[in-house]
Amino acid sequence: MRVTLLGTGAADGWPNPWCTCASCADARAAGTTRRQTSVLVDGGVLLDLSPALPPDGVSLAGVHTVLITHAHPDHCAPFALLWRHWVRPDDPLTVVGPADALATCEPWLAPDAPVELVAVTPGGTVRRRGYEVRALPADHEVPAVLYDVAGPDGGRLLYATDTGPLPEAAVEAVRDAAFDVVLLEETFGDVRDHDTRHLDLGTFPEQLDRLRAVGAVTGATDVVAVHLGHHNPPAAQLAARLAEHGARVLPDGAELHAGAYRRRSWNSDASAAPA
Ligand SMILES: [Zn+2]
Ligand SMILES: [Zn+2]
Repeated sequence: MRVTLLGTGAADGWPNPWCTCASCADARAAGTTRRQTSVLVDGGVLLDLSPALPPDGVSLAGVHTVLITHAHPDHCAPFALLWRHWVRPDDPLTVVGPADALATCEPWLAPDAPVELVAVTPGGTVRRRGYEVRALPADHEVPAVLYDVAGPDGGRLLYATDTGPLPEAAVEAVRDAAFDVVLLEETFGDVRDHDTRHLDLGTFPEQLDRLRAVGAVTGATDVVAVHLGHHNPPAAQLAARLAEHGARVLPDGAELHAGAYRRRSWNSDASAAPA
């Protein structure tokens, strides 16, 4: 499984283009722009429909399945479907997400477009082209899901944004998952009184502990913090703080190679009959 980080930033990116705080100034001085969080798996499965263009050199032409976590506009920017329609009007596409997110996509689709909208709720499973995708519950302001994606080569990814502390049902659902890659949101840094359904530097390590306790995160799991906003300390400090918890920060455009040929521990017969 090849995981390309298209964006690793919060709703407003990092730096926020309107902000002059120390964290934004540091990012600007370093020339580091973090787009809204979105990820491409094997060039074909797109997690979240970002309002941002992909990093330089990255194409979305091979995308056959889009997994949308929720309807907030940093994760569900359906204008992007029109960009696709202008060049690939006849190519089939599956768009998966909560029903209210899909409803915002519908007006952007041509009436006869070969785009299939598949509504999911927590616990639901979708199979496409050898990928088995499970929607897990999130704790967010609107209906939202996290995604557990198992690829045809055995790699397995947890995409966990946006959410506050994980619902117990989400932790239980990934017991013994031994993910190759976990992308977990860490929006607010040292701001702990944000009073939103997001994680910060206090709650992020607590969620990792919970995931480790059930075998979802192991010593072999690559944990990367995403949905990073400017309330975080400057990047070098943030990287050091997260390293204490076994997590990394990576720039937009980074590529991870995970779990080639590792056998899945759950539902292994699904790989024999990809839909
Ligand atoms: Zn968000
Ligand atoms: Zn959100």
